[in-house]
Amino acid sequence: MRAFNFSAGPATLPTEVLEQVQAELLDWRGLGLSVMELSHRGPEFMEILARSEADLRDLLNIPSEYRVIFCQEGASAHWDMIPLNLLQGKKRADYIETGYWSYRAIEEGRRYCQVNIAASNRSDQFCAIPLQQDWRLDPDAAYVHYCSNETIDGLEFHWIPDTGSVPLVVDMSSHFLSRPVPIQRFGMVYAGAQKNIGPAGLSLVIIRDDLLHPAAPGTPFLMDYHAQVLANSMLNTPPTFTIWVAGLVFQWIKRQGGLEAMEARNREKSEALYAALDRSDFYRTTVKRIDRSHMNIPFHLRDPALDEKFLKEAEQHHLLQLRGHRVVGGMRASIYNAMPMAGVQALIAFMNDFEQRHG
Ligand code: PMP
Repeated sequence: MRAFNFSAGPATLPTEVLEQVQAELLDWRGLGLSVMELSHRGPEFMEILARSEADLRDLLNIPSEYRVIFCQEGASAHWDMIPLNLLQGKKRADYIETGYWSYRAIEEGRRYCQVNIAASNRSDQFCAIPLQQDWRLDPDAAYVHYCSNETIDGLEFHWIPDTGSVPLVVDMSSHFLSRPVPIQRFGMVYAGAQKNIGPAGLSLVIIRDDLLHPAAPGTPFLMDYHAQVLANSMLNTPPTFTIWVAGLVFQWIKRQGGLEAMEARNREKSEALYAALDRSDFYRTTVKRIDRSHMNIPFHLRDPALDEKFLKEAEQHHLLQLRGHRVVGGMRASIYNAMPMAGVQALIAFMNDFEQRHG
């Protein structure tokens, strides 16, 4: 049987997609070989790549002046690639600090430029997103970087910052494709695959044409967005299997009714789980209500001495990978697109039962 997998990533994939992969693995479309064995320059894989991009464009309504890049690097590599590609001779960039992942981007950005932390919630223990009116943006910054869903801390931007003419760059790794977003508000969007896109080994970039220029001298050639766009993401052998599965996930999302339908489902799931957490003082969450993530829900047991027992019993109920990230401890339920409502209901039933026995 398939368990319910609450991992933050590599995360649960739609069962339907895994079944399709299984069915087509040995003999793709009667060719007598698998997608993994196709030449990346051949017409079959070119068709897979084009279809994946077309479906992604459709889902997100990506305007024609934006390019899509399928990158082999994980999301972390973009913390270097962004300054290397977007500084374009400028010396300063703005960063918003809202949790662990936005901080990692800041640390890496410091290798290339003067980082201005225009807003931070560090003194607030990463519990609330700083209001835009308190941000100190630099009008001469090359870009403004933020992370719209902090996977570890459980914060999500339910609004889009206004940065005027300075390009807005966003790490959407952990809520990409969970709801519609107006791409035209961003200079660049990037996301690692292993949450809502597909298997690990891929990240996606959506970047506006006017930001594409040759990267800083000395940039490794694979890290140059401009060159990747010119080569249609094929400067070298791309992760063909992962791109194929990502494309199947895009088709699955379309069959579910697209991003509006995903948003409604995701809202229903997260509201049910937050309601269960709010009902009890046996469990607690620290994120300010309006900034709560619909994807990653960290929570703590009142008595941390029960943590291991909770995790062990959860596993016996086929509720897997609920351990919180090591930097914050406690628990975390990641409920991405592919987590069905039944999984959230099973978790809530288990939590209520655990509380009754130990509360
Ligand atoms: N950004 C966010 C928001 C993440 O959640 C993660 C990983 N969980 C990363 C960046 C780093 O991703 P990767 O491991 O693909 O480099």
